[in-house]
Amino acid sequence: MAKTAEVKIAILGRAGVGKSALVVRFLTKRFIWEYDPTLESTYRHQATIDDDLVTMELLDTAGQEDTIQREGHVRWADGFAIVYDITDKGSFDEVLPFKNLLDEIKKPKNVTFILVGNKADLDHCRQVSTEEGEKLATELACAFYECSACTGEGNISEAFYELCREVRRR
Ligand code: GDP
Ligand code: MG
Repeated sequence: MAKTAEVKIAILGRAGVGKSALVVRFLTKRFIWEYDPTLESTYRHQATIDDDLVTMELLDTAGQEDTIQREGHVRWADGFAIVYDITDKGSFDEVLPFKNLLDEIKKPKNVTFILVGNKADLDHCRQVSTEEGEKLATELACAFYECSACTGEGNISEAFYELCREVRRR
């Protein structure tokens, strides 16, 4: 019989990197151009991952919350997707502070997270190379995905599934 499990995932990253677009792409296979950037939402999604039925709870954070709210999100979740925008170097520079916050709040446990470089369709405006993304992921010892919520390229579903697998391995 298949086991059922619940995995709580929070999507983190600077406002505007495409967190909401990625979550909606994952859930609906569609791209919607505009969301209320101040909105925070949770979604439940069931998926069969390696023969196990997994209920994912996805928290799409707004990316402009204060410290107290952010700490609450981090305490709540089991796994994290830290997202940056490949056309926004500043959003890439914010990855490390996010990771440090995770370490600080989750210690002494190791945090489970993936690094996602979004907006890969905008290669002509690129400010962060694929190699820089890979290098940072190696340093942080996490999986790395470059993708586009807009075109769907880069296997967004696999990124979320892999994060679930890693959470369940812990
Ligand atoms: P959030 O603040 O991180 O939730 O970002 P949103 O999902 O609201 O997206 C911010 C803006 O980036 C919106 O105008 C989106 O249409 C756009 N956007 C999001 N993902 C992509 C993408 O993969 N490619 C392109 N070209 N635009 C994107
Ligand atoms: Mg959003």
